[in-house]
Amino acid sequence: MQLTGHNYIAGETSAEGADTFFSVDPRSRQRGDLPFHNATAAEVDRAVAAAVAAFDEIRNYSSSRIAGLLDEIAIQIEALGDELLHCADRETGLGLPRLTGERERSTGQFRAFATLLRDAAYLRPIINSEQPGQPSIRQMQFPVGPVAIFAASNFPFAFAVAGGDTASALAAGSPVVVKAHPGHPATSEMFALAMSKAVAEQGFPAGTFSMLQGAGIDVGQWLVAHDGIEAVGFTGSLRGGRAIYDAAARRPRPVPVYAEMGSVNPVVITPGALAARADEIADGLVASVTLGTGQFCTNPGLILLQDSRASQDFITNVTEKMGEAPAGVLLNEAIAAGLESAVEQTRANPQIEVLTGGDAIADSDYFCYSNTVMQTTAAAIRADDRLQIEHFGPVTLFVVCQDEDDLRATVDALEGNLTSTIHAEADELEDIGELLHQLREKAGRVIWNGFPTGVAVVQAMQHGGPYPATTAPGTTSVGLNAIYRFMRPIAFQNVPDALLPEPLKDGNPLGILRQVDGVSTAAAL
Ligand code: NAP
Repeated sequence: MQLTGHNYIAGETSAEGADTFFSVDPRSRQRGDLPFHNATAAEVDRAVAAAVAAFDEIRNYSSSRIAGLLDEIAIQIEALGDELLHCADRETGLGLPRLTGERERSTGQFRAFATLLRDAAYLRPIINSEQPGQPSIRQMQFPVGPVAIFAASNFPFAFAVAGGDTASALAAGSPVVVKAHPGHPATSEMFALAMSKAVAEQGFPAGTFSMLQGAGIDVGQWLVAHDGIEAVGFTGSLRGGRAIYDAAARRPRPVPVYAEMGSVNPVVITPGALAARADEIADGLVASVTLGTGQFCTNPGLILLQDSRASQDFITNVTEKMGEAPAGVLLNEAIAAGLESAVEQTRANPQIEVLTGGDAIADSDYFCYSNTVMQTTAAAIRADDRLQIEHFGPVTLFVVCQDEDDLRATVDALEGNLTSTIHAEADELEDIGELLHQLREKAGRVIWNGFPTGVAVVQAMQHGGPYPATTAPGTTSVGLNAIYRFMRPIAFQNVPDALLPEPLKDGNPLGILRQVDGVSTAAAL
């Protein structure tokens, strides 16, 4: 496929800007030949204006018509063939097996939303019928309008141009303008091509989808500040997510920002679990910390246990295994530099002991960092919030607590996370309830005797959590409920039946399940 290095604005390629950047192969540090053009402020403006115009049309489309677009996108992504996998592998070093699975996850997301949309009950119709002294109130969900999406570097398919944020926004009926991640611009262009084809094929207005390239913060800042944008989906670092959240809040008309950011994903291991299966937990932990070279927002970065001989043996075991594991490829130079500086900041604390790794591998041909294990005390973590920063890579920090009270006090001092995990045994259940509740307060997903990496894309999944894990803990960016980030409820009071949308009409012409006066029913009123 001949790529252009251009932006995709409402179905047309555009390269008005003189500023360019290049793909870099993380395995060889070699730069590609094709220049990619940073979008200009005028191009951002054009993409958003096209999205606003598109919304005027698609706000009236049926759910099944939108479902048709989502299915078509999955088909067009598959039509890119293995060239897409090789392109992404060159730009990210993630490897073909991982990328093959991630492609399935991405197309699966579009198809799952298409299925959801084919039963209009997802519009959540709620009816309170007229009663003496109370008007008729009927509510359902509507799309918010144009959404800005920021792609992540570590999921070039599943959290990028055609990732879950894009799928859920389009499913909601909201047009999308994506700021591509500069770590994989060629992959992004291939996706933009597939998305644009699907939009044209299904007869949607061209402004339904645009993709802007950009290395540097300008494009994202212009996009978020644009008055035509009604909501923002972001996956990336705490620094980036917070900056975008603040930029959206500074607008004369602020809009919601759904940012999924960094997380240290605390794991508590009880004395009983260590006594029963220390080796098994050590193997699982090392595999989880090093999976994808540790570049997962669900990477287990903080391991809490109580001081004992068994705990020290466990830490030694994990340290040896981490030291023996080969150093994997990091996504790009910025990730490698960010990791180096995060570990440097942490190890500057005198209470931190580096057990293995802790340094960049300077003479390597590829972007990498040594597998790193550090250790500290519970008191040190409680005294310095900075020890809770994410080390985005194959790094974990053991927190040795003096006893159970020390452990509980430390869990209380944890910041918000995407996940929290507990390893314990059946005979400890009676004592562990309170600790589990404490861990629940700190995360969006609580894991029992498992590891946080690997996020099942299912209805009940919650991928979110209290700040700083996200800026909107009431929402998820994985699973079908992600759609509600880009919809909003509107209530109709005493509006005549003829003017109500179909899901709210007396006769229930769609035959869908509705909440009527507190009862779930498909019956007409
Ligand atoms: P990043 O550095 O935050 O960049 C993400 C995007 O935001 C890029 O397009 C970047 O643009 C843009 N950006 C950053 N700062 C900005 C600012 N001040 N104003 C406007 N735009 C800005 O994230 P990343 O490169 O993907 O790094 C990996 C990080 O993402 C890790 O910390 C990881 O935990 C997190 N992550 C989280 C999840 C999750 O589900 N929570 C998933 C994947 C990754 P430029 O690069 O062009 O400057």
